Amino acid sequence: MKKGKKLYEGKAKIIYATNEKNFVIQHFKDDATAFNNKKRAKIDGKGILNNRISEHILKNLGQVGIKNHLVKRINMREQLIKSVEIVPIEFIVRNIATGSLTNRLGIEDGTVLENPLIEYCYKNDELGDPLVSKEHIFTFNWATKKEIEKIDKYLHRINDFMIGMFRGIGIKLVDFKVEFGRHKSGNKNEIILADEISPDTCRLWDINSEKKLDKDRFRKNLGNVMQAYQDVARRLGILHEESNIRTVKFPKPKAVKIKKNK
Ligand code: 5GP
Repeated sequence: MKKGKKLYEGKAKIIYATNEKNFVIQHFKDDATAFNNKKRAKIDGKGILNNRISEHILKNLGQVGIKNHLVKRINMREQLIKSVEIVPIEFIVRNIATGSLTNRLGIEDGTVLENPLIEYCYKNDELGDPLVSKEHIFTFNWATKKEIEKIDKYLHRINDFMIGMFRGIGIKLVDFKVEFGRHKSGNKNEIILADEISPDTCRLWDINSEKKLDKDRFRKNLGNVMQAYQDVARRLGILHEESNIRTVKFPKPKAVKIKKNK
């Protein structure tokens, strides 16, 4: 399949056309943004790791029946994916209260929720992705009742699967954001999981130390962002040496003593 022109450039990814209408190429950049684009940085190698981590998770979700856009990873930064019309909603699932939930409602940070909490945010950067209700979604035709019913079921299954997967490697899945899209297959539109699932889109805490292993390290200036993402990849068993290149530490050059002329 041939890579075509750039169709769309987002904050962390670029979408390219291919010579087949139903498929596009998703390119993972190293750019990191937070607080509605107010904080920006380039984190060397982040795109490579997110490409691998998202591939791993979506592949596994596909095997348990969650239909998604991934066809295959093509190279270090790119995946071939099914083209979709994105549903303009960010779907958030929370297991532990933190982030905007605690800020908005004053719930104590770290409160374990009895049941997973689903939230819907309207995807609109200018408005800061505001929280909306299902009624908003139906009133403004952002998705149909049938689509949201299907997505809600998917969200619980994705959450169950990912809680187990991360627990197995000593990580708590605190919350995550996913996106869905409509893929044309024949003359039907099918709802499938799209975008990415990575430490950029999830909150991941080490089970014992509660150390943050996700984008909050960038948002909160905690440092060692790449090390945390690498830790997640390593625990998932998918870290390749290529992603390590940037963090290889070279020994400091020894100070050379210059003999003074007497
Ligand atoms: P919060 O609403 O607490 O800021 O975020 C909840 C979860 O959704 C976190 O895992 C966060 O990373 C993810 N999330 C929410 N909005 C966005 C977004 O616009 N971009 C990304 N990458 N993740 C988001």
